[in-house]
Amino acid sequence: MTESSQLSPDEKGLLLFISGPSGVGKSTICRALAAQLPAEFALSATTRLGKPQDQWGKRYLFINANEFAQRIEKDEFLEYAQVFGHWYGTLKAPVIESLNAGKKVLLEIDVQGGAQIKVMFPRAVGILILPPSEESLVQRLTSRGRDDPATITTRLAQAKMEISAARNSGAYSLEVVNQVVETTIERIKEFVQGPRPKSG
Ligand code: 5GP
Repeated sequence: MTESSQLSPDEKGLLLFISGPSGVGKSTICRALAAQLPAEFALSATTRLGKPQDQWGKRYLFINANEFAQRIEKDEFLEYAQVFGHWYGTLKAPVIESLNAGKKVLLEIDVQGGAQIKVMFPRAVGILILPPSEESLVQRLTSRGRDDPATITTRLAQAKMEISAARNSGAYSLEVVNQVVETTIERIKEFVQGPRPKSG
């Protein structure tokens, strides 16, 4: 057996997971990071319905609850969680394949998923994206035009819970306040490419 074949997938490649409240700008950041690092953007399965702004077949595989349950049974997910009433899970096989090939892999997942990943892969790097302020988050959610005012109030309450859950989990090594998206991306790249303790 060669030295490399004894390494675990997260020693061969680099697993990054990015979390943060809804409306904080995660998707834009992740798309740019995937292109610039470069990193493979992992595919998730979800039971939520596709929306016009989703890129079909690229970010999500849209499946029903039965199929999701079958895939759990078959151990096809690296992690999975229920978020806003729908199931989401990272498909395991392509992530492991990319890590074994020495690549960087980027997951955009919620905090429950991030905690699961960190337990499985202690070298994975968790990054938490924060809004500059509560007001800016409300403004961002409002301008997206996807949610009514009641939903925005719920999302704000969830955002606060998510941030404290992320901090309590100990799974996140870097927090970045997303004031200017380009600066956020540069900060993350600097952190990922710079020296880090072995445990992430
Ligand atoms: P959306 O439906 O707005 O695309 O995503 C809702 C939330 O689900 C976001 O916080 C997103 O990060 C999270 N999410 C997306 N894919 C996954 C996944 O595969 N696993 C987990 N745990 N969360 C996910």
